[in-house]
Amino acid sequence: MKERRREKEKWSKFCPKCGKKTNDLFDSLCKECFIKQTSLIEADFKVNVNVCVNCGGYFKGKERTSIEEAVADSVRKEIRKRYGYECKVEIEEEQKENDSRAIVYLNVKAEIKGVEIEERGIVEVIFKKEICERCSRIAGGYYEGIVQIRAKNRIPTEGELAMAEEIAYSSVGEKDFISKERKLKGGLDVYVSSMECGRRISRQIVKKLGGSFSESRKLYGRKDGRNIYRVSFSVRLPRSS
Ligand SMILES: [Zn+2]
Ligand SMILES: [Zn+2]
Repeated sequence: MKERRREKEKWSKFCPKCGKKTNDLFDSLCKECFIKQTSLIEADFKVNVNVCVNCGGYFKGKERTSIEEAVADSVRKEIRKRYGYECKVEIEEEQKENDSRAIVYLNVKAEIKGVEIEERGIVEVIFKKEICERCSRIAGGYYEGIVQIRAKNRIPTEGELAMAEEIAYSSVGEKDFISKERKLKGGLDVYVSSMECGRRISRQIVKKLGGSFSESRKLYGRKDGRNIYRVSFSVRLPRSS
């Protein structure tokens, strides 16, 4: 009898939802009711992803992404917005239904107010068709730099130019591209999508074939209040190779 009374006094609070007596309340609910009423993934949660009709790439804004990455990011952001907590998202399966949507099955874990909550859910991904920036730039012949491959006091050989061309193509990053090439009497001009890409190509050519390179930029125009430059990379292969 004595024991029982002590237990009774220990629990001075109770859960208003299920009536359970406990001192461990979360948002004034017992742990079980708190878990039940907390939803990590809302029933009709949708994620929008752009898909390029030309290259098939997935994009969030201008950033290249994957279905998995876009879903995990959106779910994480949503939970942070609602509860202010970080969570762990595991994608279990993704199923592409058709050109305009995909279904993603996932598992989400978060510790909210000290309670570990795990939930399985389904997120719908809606695709919006577009032409990505890279593809529209390729189509428009866009370039920001020209890599001018020449040799010091001589004309580069066909073999050197073929190698330089191969190095150029293998140094192009995922975001970049070569928009055109111009064969000249004294060498080869390679038009590239970005300054970084031009610099990377020039460095690789010099590293593998020798010589040196210099940069010079020219004001090309203004866009959104910023100066736009086009950069020439003057690559000089060594005297004799
Ligand atoms: Zn309860
Ligand atoms: Zn594209």
